[in-house]
Amino acid sequence: MSVPADEPGNPAHAIFERFLRAGECREVLGCFVELCQQLGLQGSGLQLYHGLKAALNYWNAKALWSKLDKKAGHKDYDQGTACAGTKCLVVGAGPCGLRAAIELALLGARVVLLEKRDSFSRNNVLHLWPFTIHDLRALGAKKFYGRFCTGTLDHISIRQLQLILLKVALLLGVEVHINVRFEGLVPPTGKAGGWQAVLQPSSSPLTHYEFDVLISAGGGKFVPEGFKRKETRGKLAIGITTNFINRHSRAEVEVAEISGVARIYNQKFFQNLYNKTGIDLENIVYYKDDTHYFVMTAKKQSLLKKGVILQDKADIESLLSPDNVNWDALLSYAKEAANFSTNYCLPELEFALNHRDLPDVDMFDFTCMTRSENAALVWEHNGSRLLLGLVGDCLVEPFWPLGTGVARGFLAAFDAAWMVRRWAAGTPPLEVLAERESIYQRLSQTSPDNTNKNISQYSIDPATRYPNINLQAIKASQVKDLYLVGTVE
Ligand code: FAD
Repeated sequence: MSVPADEPGNPAHAIFERFLRAGECREVLGCFVELCQQLGLQGSGLQLYHGLKAALNYWNAKALWSKLDKKAGHKDYDQGTACAGTKCLVVGAGPCGLRAAIELALLGARVVLLEKRDSFSRNNVLHLWPFTIHDLRALGAKKFYGRFCTGTLDHISIRQLQLILLKVALLLGVEVHINVRFEGLVPPTGKAGGWQAVLQPSSSPLTHYEFDVLISAGGGKFVPEGFKRKETRGKLAIGITTNFINRHSRAEVEVAEISGVARIYNQKFFQNLYNKTGIDLENIVYYKDDTHYFVMTAKKQSLLKKGVILQDKADIESLLSPDNVNWDALLSYAKEAANFSTNYCLPELEFALNHRDLPDVDMFDFTCMTRSENAALVWEHNGSRLLLGLVGDCLVEPFWPLGTGVARGFLAAFDAAWMVRRWAAGTPPLEVLAERESIYQRLSQTSPDNTNKNISQYSIDPATRYPNINLQAIKASQVKDLYLVGTVE
C-alpha cells in the first residue's frame, strides 16, 4: 500500500528533493530506491510512474508531472500502450542510451538499461541544437538542473546531461543497472525461450531477462555482433580537449565564449596565436559551463615543435600513444591556447580534474571516423526474433569540434524508438528494417538548417523532423541480408 505523501514535513518530499538535486550517478540511484521504499512502491514501467505521481502531489513534484504528462500524452505513444508487451534491453547509460530508453518507456515497453560503470565523470561539454534544448526542457530538465540552458547558453556537460536523463528514465520506470557489462547474446534454446544476454558479472540476475529488442548505445568503441563498421579516413586531425575550474567570478562571467572559430574564417586570429605562442590550430571552441571547456584541432608540426609529441610517426596510433606524448607539455599547450583565445582574461586557469583525479586534458584522433553500415538488423533463432538497433556514437562517431554528436544521437534515438513502435505493431520485419535504413540515410547530412523548423512538433515520427522524408527509399528486398537466421557467431 502506498503512503500518502502530500502533507507538510512528509519524508518522501525530502527524499524526492534530494533525488532532483543529486549530482552523482550512484546518489541518484540510491535516492530513487529510498524514495520507492518510503512510498511502498514496487515494479517498473509507466505503472511505477503513475504510482509516484499519485503519491507525490506537492507543488514541486506536480510541476514536473505536468511536463512529463504532456510529453506522455503525445499520440505516438498511444497512451503508453504502443509497445506494451515489448521487452527491451538498452546497453549504455550515455546520453543516447538514456534518451532512447525514455522513449521506449513512454511507448509502454519494459525497459532494462545496463551500464558497465557506476559514475558519470565527463566534464566535456556538448553543443545542443535548438531541438535538443526544446526536447530536454519538455522532459523537465530545469527541475533537475536549474542552470540548464539559461540565457543564450546552448550547451551542457556530458555528465549533467546524463544525470538529467537518468532521473527522467527512472521516474518513467526504466530499470537501470550499473556495474553490469553486456558481453554478447544468448539465442533462445527451445521453442518457448527468448533472447538473453551474456553479462559480467555472470551472477547478475539480469542474465535471465528475456528480451525481444536490443538497443545498443555503448559508445564509439562498442558495436554488437552482426554489424559492420565503415571507416572514413580524412586528413590528419588531432583533437585536444581541456577543462578548467569555473569559479563563476565576475571576471570569468565577462569572458566571451567562442562557439567555433575555424581557420578558414579567421586567419588572423590563428596567425597571431602561432606568432605569439607557436601553437598552430585548425579550430577552437570555448564553452563556459560547469567548467571552462575548450576543444581544438591542433596541427601535428606545432605539437612536435612544442614537444607535446616526442617523435613523428607514420601511423596515428603510435603517434598519439602515451609513451610518445609529453604530458606536461600537453598541459602547457592546452593552457596557452586557452589563455590566448580568451585574451588572457580568465584569471588563474586551474585544471579541473578528470575521473582519475588528473588534470582534465586529453588528446584524440579524429583522422579516422567510423560509422555502422546499417542502423538495425533482425536475428532469428528457433523461431524467436530479436530486433537490434544502434544509436549514438556506436551508430555514427561524431567529430566533436562540430558539435553534431548528441543532436544526431538524439535523432537516432527517436528513429530507433519509431522502429520499435513499428515492430510492436506487427509490421513485417523486412519492412521495419527497410524503413529504418531509409531514415538512417539522412542522418549524416542533418543540421539545424535542413531539419524541420517547427521543433515544438518533433516526435519519434520521422516525418516531424526530416523534411520530405521518403520512408520507402530503401525497399524490403534490399535489406534481406539484415535478417539473420541461425546462431550468433
Ligand atoms: P557514450 O556517451 O559514449 O556512452 C556509452 C555508454 O555505454 C558509456 O557510459 C559506457 O560506459 C557504456 N558501455 C559501453 N560498453 C558497454 C557494455 N559492453 N556494457 C554496458 N555498458 C557499456 N563529444 C563532444 O561533442 N565533445 C567532447 O568534448 C566529447 N568528449 C568526449 C570524451 C570522452 C572520453 C568520450 C568517450 C566521448 C566524448 N564525446 C564528446 C562524445 C560524446 O560523449 C557522445 O557523442 C555523446 O555522449 C553521445 O554518446 P552515446 O550515448 O552514444 O555514447
